[in-house]
Order: sequence, then structure tokens, then C-alpha cells
Amino acid sequence: MSAVVTAEGERLACDAVVLATELTTAYALLGARPRRPVPLRYSPSAVVLHGSTHREWQALDHHTLFFGGAWRRTFAEIAREGRLMSDPSLLVTRPTATDPALAPPGRQVISVLAPAPNLHTGRLDWPGLAPAYRDELLHTLAGRGLDGFAHDVTIDEVVTPRTWAERGLAAGTPFSLSHTLLQTGPFRPANRVRGIDNVVLAGCGTVPGVGIPPVLISGRLAAARLTGEHRTRRRPRAGASSSVRSTS
Ligand SMILES: Cc1cc2nc3c(=O)[nH]c(=O)nc-3n(C[C@H](O)[C@H](O)[C@H](O)COP(=O)(O)OP(=O)(O)OC[C@H]3O[C@@H](n4cnc5c(N)ncnc54)[C@H](O)[C@@H]3O)c2cc1C
Repeated sequence: MSAVVTAEGERLACDAVVLATELTTAYALLGARPRRPVPLRYSPSAVVLHGSTHREWQALDHHTLFFGGAWRRTFAEIAREGRLMSDPSLLVTRPTATDPALAPPGRQVISVLAPAPNLHTGRLDWPGLAPAYRDELLHTLAGRGLDGFAHDVTIDEVVTPRTWAERGLAAGTPFSLSHTLLQTGPFRPANRVRGIDNVVLAGCGTVPGVGIPPVLISGRLAAARLTGEHRTRRRPRAGASSSVRSTS
């Protein structure tokens, strides 16, 4: 690779490129496809409600989980059966709990995350479902101790698996490739691209995986690939007592 061409048509010469998009997008930009013995599998997705409120609930911390009684069944419903959770387990996030400056005085920022099937597993009519599902989630939380939640939280945005897909995320999930055995550790798509020496991948679609800490590690691994640092790992000579310095 000798240059990157931006969407505006600007050509930027480069010695190396780190592609931190989705795995499938990265390969598409390179005109290649990941070579895998079995098809890639994607994580479940999520419906996310974004809103705000003037209320404070004692039960709400920065992150608060509200488990349904049938939370084990939800794994089958969203990951295999492609259905909405029959007894929702929900994550409510209130970032203003730790950073009040994120909202005007007297208001709280609220988001509600409901795990949901991705678009490969469930073929649901998201535009049609979204308003009723939003109301169902808010009433579920009102019934789990957040008195008045359905009435006092103003929802500004409902993000569904369809929305994630419209934002370019494969299978309509923001959680990328699932962490099945065949997509974890040494079996996860590598950060090297076969046949192109100066391109390295980073982000949640490559090693080590999904989540902020793994993604930060992926950036470090990508940098080590480009600087050659990953090759400088020293191995102790037989019988030597020195320690091994891991650099990647
Ligand atoms: C609602 C939600 C809550 C989460 N909560 C947590 C949490 O509490 N803790 C945690 O550890 N993880 C959490 N995660 C997961 C975590 O956010 C992700 O795993 C992580 O952000 C992925 O980072 P990334 O750099 O791979 O992708 P992204 O952060 O999605 O970055 C990819 C970037 O590439 C850009 N891009 C895509 N295509 C192109 C293109 N063609 N050209 C140029 N740019 C492009 C995108 O615009 C984007 O900016 C959460 C995720 C979601 C959706």
C-alpha cells in the first residue's frame, strides 16, 4: 500500500496504514476478503434508548443492571431464536452520576441498553417495532423500582439493530465478531492482512476482541507490528535465569 484516498478524493502518501474500521469494511477497502475456514459469526446486537430527565433515582448509579427473572433464557432468545427478550435484562447508564457537566443543571443524561438479536439471527421489523419496544422497556424499568421512569424520562433517540446496520456495522451489531471459541485468542482474525505487508488492523474485529480495553490493546499490537517491536521479544537462552520482556 502506498497511499490512502479520502472520501473527498485527497490522496495521502503513506509508508503504512492502520485500518481500525470493522473487519469486513477494512477488507472491503483493501479489495480483499478475510479467508476463514468457517463463516464469521457476529455478536448479538442492542437496542439503545438515549434520553434525559429532571429526576434522580437512588437506585441509579453510573451503570446499573436490572436483571429479569428469566435472564438465562434471554441468551437463547436473542442469540439463537432471533426474538426479543421475553423478560428483559437491561443496562441503565447515567453518565451524569460521575460527570454532572454532561447535562444542564438539574438534568440527568440517561441511556437504556437492551440486548437484541442481530440482523443475521432475527429478521424483525425494527422501524415498526421500535416505538412500542421503547415504551415496553421504559415501563419494565418503572416496574423494577424506577417509579415514574416511563413518564419522567424523555427519549430523544432510539437506536436499533437496523440503525447500527445503516451506520455500516455488519449484521447490525455494534459488538462485532462474537467471541466464540473459533473467533477468540489465536483463532480470531489476525491483525495482519495476507499479502499486504504495510497494512495492520486494529479495533474490535481483530485481536484481542470487543470492549474498550481489548481495543486499546489492539492499537498497541498494531503499533508494535509497524515498528517491528513485536519481533524484539527476547527469549532466555537455555539455562539462563533472565526474565522475558514481553513487548506485545
Ligand atoms: C452502547 C454500547 C455500550 C458499550 N459499553 C461498553 C462498556 O461499558 N465497556 C466496554 O469496554 N465496551 C463497551 N462497548 C464496546 C466498545 O465501545 C467497543 O468494543 C469499542 O468502542 C470498539 O472500538 P473500535 O475502535 O473497534 O470501533 P469504533 O469505536 O466503532 O470505531 C471505529 C471508527 O471507524 C470509523 N469508520 C468506520 N468505517 C469507516 C470508513 N470507511 N472510513 C473512515 N472511518 C470509518 C467509525 O466512524 C468509527 O469512528 C459498548 C458498545 C456500545 C455500542
